[in-house]
Amino acid sequence: MTELKTDASIDAMHAAGQVVGRALTAVRQAARVGVSLLELDEVAREVLREAGASSPFLGYRPSFAPTPFPGVICASVNDAIVHGIPNGLRLRDGDLVSIDCGAELDGWVGDSAISFVVGRPRPADLRLVETAERALAAGIDAARVGNRIGDIAHAVGRVCRTAGYGIPAGFGGHGVGRRMHEDPDVPNEGRPGRGLPLRHGMVLAIEPMLIGGGKDAYYEAEDGWTLRTSDGSRAAHAEHTVAVTDAGPRILTAREAG
Ligand code: MG
Ligand code: MG
Repeated sequence: MTELKTDASIDAMHAAGQVVGRALTAVRQAARVGVSLLELDEVAREVLREAGASSPFLGYRPSFAPTPFPGVICASVNDAIVHGIPNGLRLRDGDLVSIDCGAELDGWVGDSAISFVVGRPRPADLRLVETAERALAAGIDAARVGNRIGDIAHAVGRVCRTAGYGIPAGFGGHGVGRRMHEDPDVPNEGRPGRGLPLRHGMVLAIEPMLIGGGKDAYYEAEDGWTLRTSDGSRAAHAEHTVAVTDAGPRILTAREAG
């Protein structure tokens, strides 16, 4: 069942979302050639600690996972699409990095992700990242009272497909609230005018995942968490937590430029 949040709850979720935004900004600023994913995880931990927030990622263990998640960020590099474990891997020049982060503050969760290139970027990677952001923006713009879930899914999917990218089926956005994953599912591809009607007070994580090689195929890596592209091509991921309101979509995880 999809829970509607009160305006006061949405404000509280915005506070949690701002912590996520600060953590992502700090991680991005710290991400340089030679820095390890574990060090980036520590940067995010420090932001959460300072804010008095906890991590909905740390210790998370959904039914598919063999082990509790060990970090406060997912760090997915190059052919990793999502759910990468922050480990000792050190970033190299031109790596495409996706960072997903959550925070729980006063019992409310925020969830957001960014993708960027470390060092000298390949033009193809910049296009992939830019398209992920554009797909996210299109999805957010469709998160309006009177629309349906399918309108968000269609908006996201159309940007990805028009640019020639693949979409990993079975993964996508979700409701957010006191828990990180709530109803409804928010797919990254769908038919307009279909699905749950959007109402004031719904809070949704919208999160396009793009496969650069253009095919939809992916596999789960040996660690049981990381999703990788089957063709070895690079992937990008972008995510915001968004409230559907009578005044239009409100991004709860917006961050300062940087
Ligand atoms: Mg996320
Ligand atoms: Mg999410």
